[in-house]
Amino acid sequence: PEIPTIRLNNGVDMPQLGYGVFQIPEAETTEAVTAALQAGYRSIDTAAAYGNEEGVGKAIAGFPREQLFITTKLWNSDQGYDETLRAFEKSVSLLGLDYLDLYLIHWPAPAQDRYVGSWKALIRLADEGRISAIGVSNFQPAHLERIINETGRVPAVNQVELHPFLQQSELREVHAKLGIATEAWSPLGQGGELLTNPAITAVAEKHGRTAAQVVLRWHLQLGNVVIPKSVTPSRIAENIDVFGFVLDESDLTAVSTLDMGHRIGPDPDHFA
Ligand code: NAD
Repeated sequence: PEIPTIRLNNGVDMPQLGYGVFQIPEAETTEAVTAALQAGYRSIDTAAAYGNEEGVGKAIAGFPREQLFITTKLWNSDQGYDETLRAFEKSVSLLGLDYLDLYLIHWPAPAQDRYVGSWKALIRLADEGRISAIGVSNFQPAHLERIINETGRVPAVNQVELHPFLQQSELREVHAKLGIATEAWSPLGQGGELLTNPAITAVAEKHGRTAAQVVLRWHLQLGNVVIPKSVTPSRIAENIDVFGFVLDESDLTAVSTLDMGHRIGPDPDHFA
């Protein structure tokens, strides 16, 4: 399938749908990412903390580099200017890359108060051509404001928990004003209850699609970047087969009524 891209605030094009590898053990990662590449995914989302960058690296080795969009993330214990420069070198080495497409600060970890130093390191790496685009993850408006005020550089992306049970409307408005792309983590709400919700399954039946496909379509039509994860080949294929149908206004409204402000993951203001 032809995967649409969204243009980031520095002119770089990012695939709007990619493959996430959180919780995939290193030993299974090469096989899983290989299956995703075969299914047509070109964007892969990993992180130092996932412990599987080397497995991703083995899967993408030999694949035409310019066709790939690889994201990894700086872990909390590596925050700070010098620490970040070192952590970056370790990640790209494990991935087997000489440049990275997108590097994100994984969490603001405000209690450490070191994310501004990390952001300055990311700016340096971007200016040196080692990273095509730099961004953040799990940043709240106050954290975004701080790095922008202190450096004048606006992140290209903020990757945050976002699914129909946690729609992040206010944060999405902040992103729109600042020119930051919204990337949704756990876009399927990690499976489970969201995918059996009657509002979702009704829309799925109407279109002859699965609940996961409806949820992904909802994200795409809102303008979010999505990175669904699965290790099951049939689901890997299902999750990328979302460009042959369109939700109408009533479908989008039905999904939008499910917002409960319910987080699966930690509260970014109080994590690490
Ligand atoms: P997800 O919402 O992608 O859900 C994945 C789970 O949903 C699978 O394990 C499976 O149980 C189920 N599933 C997937 N496809 C399905 C299908 N077609 N039908 C039925 N069930 C299906 O959850 P996730 O893995 O937490 O999030 C996706 C990616 O987001 C991660 O792999 C990671 O790359 C990223 N992420 C980032 C952060 C962060 O802090 N930045 C946190 C969590 C996840």
